[in-house]
Amino acid sequence: MAFVYLNKEKFFNNLKKISSINPNIIAVIKDNAYGHGILPISKMLKEFGVKKVAVRDNDEARIVRGFFEEILIFNPPTSRDAMNFSYAINSLLQLKKNRHPYIHLKVDTGFRRNGILEEEVEEALEIILKKGFELRGVFSHFCCADEDGCDTFIQYDKFLKIKDKVEKFCTKNNLHLPYFHIANSAALTKLPNTLDFVRVGIAMYGGIDGYEGVMKLVGKMVSRRVLDEKEGCGYNKAFMSDKKRVITTIDIGYADGIPYFKNGCKLKDTFALGKISMDYMIVDGEWDEVVVFDDVKEFVKNFDTITYDILVKISPKIKRKIVETSDNNRVKQSIKISR
Ligand SMILES: *Cc1c(COP(=O)(O)O)cnc(C)c1O
Repeated sequence: MAFVYLNKEKFFNNLKKISSINPNIIAVIKDNAYGHGILPISKMLKEFGVKKVAVRDNDEARIVRGFFEEILIFNPPTSRDAMNFSYAINSLLQLKKNRHPYIHLKVDTGFRRNGILEEEVEEALEIILKKGFELRGVFSHFCCADEDGCDTFIQYDKFLKIKDKVEKFCTKNNLHLPYFHIANSAALTKLPNTLDFVRVGIAMYGGIDGYEGVMKLVGKMVSRRVLDEKEGCGYNKAFMSDKKRVITTIDIGYADGIPYFKNGCKLKDTFALGKISMDYMIVDGEWDEVVVFDDVKEFVKNFDTITYDILVKISPKIKRKIVETSDNNRVKQSIKISR
């Protein structure tokens, strides 16, 4: 059976590194914690001392209720949503219809995706005051913090102006000051000040440089055979062998979220050969278990995509297992014949 191993030591190292920039973390665990498994990740976050998380929707919030002080839901509530979660307000329209008491106002500082507009901030604050909502946070999102020389600082300056406006309004009207958060992973080391909270996802999971890959994906041998010289294997015999070799079939395929490939793929331990199947791939060599990847930053180089995309699609059907340290993480990799 295939396994996803979550390396707690690496996860904590990443969290320590983020904490050294700003100890106030809103951990983004949307979409099954970027595919890692929302429950095991929440368990580890709680142990580390993280008090706030952000999720995609109510279903995810329900799973982790009880783990954290505050759960911010990025999307508008549905009718059956619980009242004690915090909701991101993505538009003025949503704010006008809102009936949930705890809110974070999202402002559009340049992403042009969602959030209320700069010129709508005053109107929004008046509505919040009139309806008696508790404004817990004000936030914005960067569109290109992972690039140099782009709009990050323009967005940041705009956000500081909005922050100023909100603070003045709250002081004047005797409201609690909300906390302000704008820093995603890529912005962590770019901003002169990361403000009240950082709101990070991919750095925690080690999907960007400077952080350690937390997920290790291991496939189990299903069967083995010898491939002759000039013999092909798999669909359309896309791989043709130049020599006699042992091949192993493991129990991970594109149904498990691995992007489709038709001309082999470099794995951590060996090479996958030819075309990937729905539930299997054929790899070079004789193995009991094969590490497909233990650092998504390496694995992603096989594909025209981003680490987020690989991680988030790893099937929730695969069992997740927390391992304490890198040493325990050594699964048996009995290589009987390597060539
Ligand atoms: C996903 C998301 C984040 C986290 O972004 P990373 O690049 O993974 O750090 C932060 N804020 C919002 C609004 C998001 O949707």
